[in-house]
Amino acid sequence: MTAFAALAAFQRETEALALVMGRLGWDRETVMPRGAAAQRAEEVAALEAVLHARRTDPRMADWLAAAVAPDAAGEAALRHLRRDHARAVRIPARLAAETARVTSLAQGIWAEARARDDIAHFLPVLAQVLRLKREAAAALADGGDLYDALLEEYEPGMTGAALAAMFCRMRPRLVALRAAILGTGRVPPPLAGRFPQDGQLRLAREVAAAFGYDFHRGRLDLAVHPFSSGSGADVRITTRVDEADPLGCLLATIHETGHAAYEQSVDPAHALTPLGHGASMGVHESQSRLYENQIGRSRPFAGWLHGAMGRAFGHAGAADADALYAALNRVVPGYIRTEADEVHYNLHIMLRFDLERDLVAGRLEPADLEEAWNARFLADFGVAVDRPAHGMLQDVHWALGLFGYFPTYALGNVYAGCLWAALRADIPETDALIARGELGPITRWLGEKVQRHGRLFGPGETIARACGGAEPTEAPLLDHLEAKFGALYAL
Ligand code: ZN
Repeated sequence: MTAFAALAAFQRETEALALVMGRLGWDRETVMPRGAAAQRAEEVAALEAVLHARRTDPRMADWLAAAVAPDAAGEAALRHLRRDHARAVRIPARLAAETARVTSLAQGIWAEARARDDIAHFLPVLAQVLRLKREAAAALADGGDLYDALLEEYEPGMTGAALAAMFCRMRPRLVALRAAILGTGRVPPPLAGRFPQDGQLRLAREVAAAFGYDFHRGRLDLAVHPFSSGSGADVRITTRVDEADPLGCLLATIHETGHAAYEQSVDPAHALTPLGHGASMGVHESQSRLYENQIGRSRPFAGWLHGAMGRAFGHAGAADADALYAALNRVVPGYIRTEADEVHYNLHIMLRFDLERDLVAGRLEPADLEEAWNARFLADFGVAVDRPAHGMLQDVHWALGLFGYFPTYALGNVYAGCLWAALRADIPETDALIARGELGPITRWLGEKVQRHGRLFGPGETIARACGGAEPTEAPLLDHLEAKFGALYAL
């Protein structure tokens, strides 16, 4: 057996175990009994120890040194394995297991703290998670930037400095657009009436299927914080339901369908290899954002949705498709990132990006986070945070140790802007297709141009290839937002 074949066989088992680990996470956030939290933390830590031992196995170094790839996909797989192995061996086994154990517990503590608006309940475990992540960052950075070392996990090749520069270019145009919209004094009404849970879940399933989600290899469940999980033949999505607001369930479902369709569409030849996932969190988010925003919040889709809601609920909560379109695109300076409109969304990310960079650098302590968050929110959104669940307790990410993850959401918006411009140029009848609910040609374009490649190419290269070679920039997204909201709010 060649070194490459031995490495591939070993890696296939590691990938399978990593999928089991992911499914334990799905279970914890959907159906696990609350009383199982402490035992689950031990289960996860034990499996993490197995995974860490495999990723740092001494044979890996020998195989990686000797392996010769048979083709381009093999070359790409070796690049990922060499990078991942170099990172894994820098993390002591004790730190890997401790991080898995503490973040698993922290998720439950965060949920309790958020429900009770009790920051003091969350701060000790947040400080513990941050200490572990800073220790990991120092080990990974080897004298370099701590934040970049964590960011590398989610967006290979990206740096905090590059993101900060991009956000600086985006910020003035977003702030100006926000001011112009709020200056009109127009706030379209939300939907009116009741939308029972079973109807919402039926509609969610119908919409997910229309967007190309394969229920034969997936399922839809409820979760506090919607997410998707898995890859290949088992990719699951979750959503949440508010009977007064069906758009929350609908848009969360479309968003997670974007993530899941990506994982379901990766070339089966890449399954259980390092190439069998999305290229990066930013590219992943470009799919979910494009499904949710460029399609799900568009006027043609509102036309189709108005009919579908009438069938699901006997009414759509809005007089006509134009009113539904306006309700899908209400621009309000709300507290919650996941409920934010397209204009405010990236401002939510910039706030978190700056705060977590300060936390990781040691410039900000968890005990001072609430004050820093609230001051920044007031400055950016013109509203004082009224309760912690609407402020620093709203997102699970920091409890899970996901420092460096937030900016990939904004990067996903930027990538989605680039892809949308390229897609519309290739498919001139895009609007007519969406208006008829025929999303197949659009999702197939994304499948062919982006999704099937998995991790064959780097994140920036994946987007550039789909866009005819053009390097991704923030310009198409900002042009799109200014045109869309300029028309909607008669600016
Ligand atoms: Zn997402």
